[in-house]
Amino acid sequence: MLTHNLGFPRIGAQRQLKKACEQYWAGNINRNELVFAAKKIREENWLLQKQAGIDMIPCNDFSFYDQVLDMSLLLGVIPHRYTPVATDIPQNAEIDLYFAMARGYQQHGLDITAMEMTKWFDTNYHYIVPEFIAAQQFRILSDKLFHEFNECQRVTGTTPKPVLIGPVSYLLLGKEKQSGEAADSSFDKIDLLKQLLPVYIEVLKRLEEAGAEWVQLDEPFLATDLTEKQQQAFQYAYKEIRKQCNLKILLATYFEGLQENTSLAANLPVCALHIDLVRAPQQIDDVLKAIPPKMSLSLGVVDGRNIWKNDYSRSLALIEKARVAIGEERIMLAPSCSLLHSPVDLDGETAIDAEIRNWMAFAKQKLGEVTALKQIVEGNAALLAINTRAIESRRHSTRIHKQAVKDRVAAIKEADAQRKSEFTVRQRIQQLRFNLPLFPTTTIGSFPQTDEIRQLRAKLKKGELSQKQYESEIEEATVSAIRVQEEIGLDVLVHGEFERNDMVEYFGEQLDGFLFTQNGWVQSYGSRCVKPPVIAGDVSRTGDMTVKWSCFAQAQTSKLMKGMLTGPVTILQWSFVRDDQPRWQTAFQIALAIRDEVMALEKAGIRIIQIDEPAIREGLPLRKKDGPAYLEWAVKAFRLSASGVQDETQIHTHMCYSEFNDIMEHIAKMDADVITIETSRSQMELLQAFAHFKYPNEIGPGVYDIHSPRVPTVEEMMYLLEKAVALLPVKNIWVNPDCGLKTRRWTETIAALKNMVQAAQVTREKA
Ligand code: GLN
Ligand code: ZN
Repeated sequence: MLTHNLGFPRIGAQRQLKKACEQYWAGNINRNELVFAAKKIREENWLLQKQAGIDMIPCNDFSFYDQVLDMSLLLGVIPHRYTPVATDIPQNAEIDLYFAMARGYQQHGLDITAMEMTKWFDTNYHYIVPEFIAAQQFRILSDKLFHEFNECQRVTGTTPKPVLIGPVSYLLLGKEKQSGEAADSSFDKIDLLKQLLPVYIEVLKRLEEAGAEWVQLDEPFLATDLTEKQQQAFQYAYKEIRKQCNLKILLATYFEGLQENTSLAANLPVCALHIDLVRAPQQIDDVLKAIPPKMSLSLGVVDGRNIWKNDYSRSLALIEKARVAIGEERIMLAPSCSLLHSPVDLDGETAIDAEIRNWMAFAKQKLGEVTALKQIVEGNAALLAINTRAIESRRHSTRIHKQAVKDRVAAIKEADAQRKSEFTVRQRIQQLRFNLPLFPTTTIGSFPQTDEIRQLRAKLKKGELSQKQYESEIEEATVSAIRVQEEIGLDVLVHGEFERNDMVEYFGEQLDGFLFTQNGWVQSYGSRCVKPPVIAGDVSRTGDMTVKWSCFAQAQTSKLMKGMLTGPVTILQWSFVRDDQPRWQTAFQIALAIRDEVMALEKAGIRIIQIDEPAIREGLPLRKKDGPAYLEWAVKAFRLSASGVQDETQIHTHMCYSEFNDIMEHIAKMDADVITIETSRSQMELLQAFAHFKYPNEIGPGVYDIHSPRVPTVEEMMYLLEKAVALLPVKNIWVNPDCGLKTRRWTETIAALKNMVQAAQVTREKA
């Protein structure tokens, strides 16, 4: 049984890569220093894997920014607009072209936009989307891959396993473009395979010459819905590769089961197939049946995307099944996917309670689990006994298992997820109560989180400010934001969220069942890392979370003050979740906690309450057919959180970065009295789904993009509002920005909101 790893986090245990990159971008360190920092991280990672006893150590899993962008550079897929970066500025090296593509280039009189970024399957990692033109040519442009192969060989004294994105998935990750940035629908990217393959095969041959034995080709699309043409592309690509190159190919799939693609994958002419047995353990039987006699099977049994200790007995049962079916020699052991998605090292976590820490594993510990599993199969029973004790302790610990919480979820009734009256009735009651004008204006919640505000929290943490001093500073910021909103003339105000570090962490810190790491960073994109909270146990609310700040804010003004909460699905989606119960169960626990907070706000006199759910859409499963079941419980979780209130209390929700077309039915089922969405960048195009569906409730299509410091004009926003008027009943339209304003500065915020209010006023007069 060979052990291997699909990829290791490259940010460094102390986020060294982030720091080095950002210093390089700021001009504080030179290229050599950056290269050196990266080299050190690679060396540490490789040696760590060697010490853990991993037989096949991956290389080329390192990346300065993103592994998909690395592929684009390797294969010479450089959009035209970057040519000047590479050719006109003599001091630029390959890495500068690379960063220009990732981040845009505003230097030396050039102003070139960055390439688009989007989510890597259903993870919170973002990759740089390749741009293909109809006449796309490929050529080997970068030496990084070969360099890292040699380097890894030298450092570890082993034959490394280079990791590449497979040719079909690489094409499927990209977009068809004209020579500019505009989309091009005149060709299908998958047809570029013919041009791509010769170059791809040349890459493989060069690896072979360099001494590689195995190469890992990631084809995650094999775990998604495929068209017939895409299936044929897989067959064609791997037949060509087989014909022309002798390397042993390990085909890696992850994030889902192969399902109906099982026979396709198993019949590709490759030496080994990797499957994700954490996400889809049930696929083992079908895969074992389908796998041809000589192919090896890599069992992804250790969860690459979470922080929990592996349950060895469960993994061993899967390994045993495979052993009986195909024999030990054909089995490989590995994490389920690249460890890119887990934090680096649990040893750095000194603040987590020892009992709970003993239930956890980060990337470094997961490598140990892979080799431990092999040792257990070889007879080391002691390792299994230690693991069983930890798993048992987690299973029964009263620190995380709260019967009352479980009982409450079990007792949920349909009526709990149902507002008292239907929307039209509520709308009438709320209109009478609030007497808002047509096109009421509001914002999404946060106001600028200035350095001063952030420093307040830092000082509080360091003990340089007392809790009382801190709170009085936050009060001051809140009052001043309220005055600003009154002066601008907004109809429904917000308190500004100055007391919040982050929209999930703020709630996690106050809810029972959550814990926080000191260093549990995971790469989100480029140098951006996130440190998700950990949902460790049954979740419950131990007291008011936002009531004090909302009431303080409401007391400062005679205008309506919106209460501001994060919804259960978003809290779930942006945390490390439990793996010992279904996601819906955790979501419902959080939903009940938020519900209690909603009711407490209502009781305290808050008349409008917003429950943000920006992450509902990103929780959609990879397979279309699994969508409805997910949406069913996700929407129910939201409704549970929102439905305890009286008809006269108005529930808002907010969703950004979303396309709504295919989920309109479920958005409507959320039955929020008002939904605010991001629409300005698409020029209200996203609103058409709502119009088409005849969405019945009130809706605030964002009229300006908060991602840019640019102040939009009154006319621009009126133009967008007119578009909205053409699509929706006038009485249902709200006016607001696309999202919260925490990343903006005050000057641009005030200017933009003044224009927005004016645009609403003029449109109102016309109506
Ligand atoms: N209420 C939050 C804010 O304004 C919403 C953030 C979001 O949707 N991502 O910041
Ligand atoms: Zn938003």
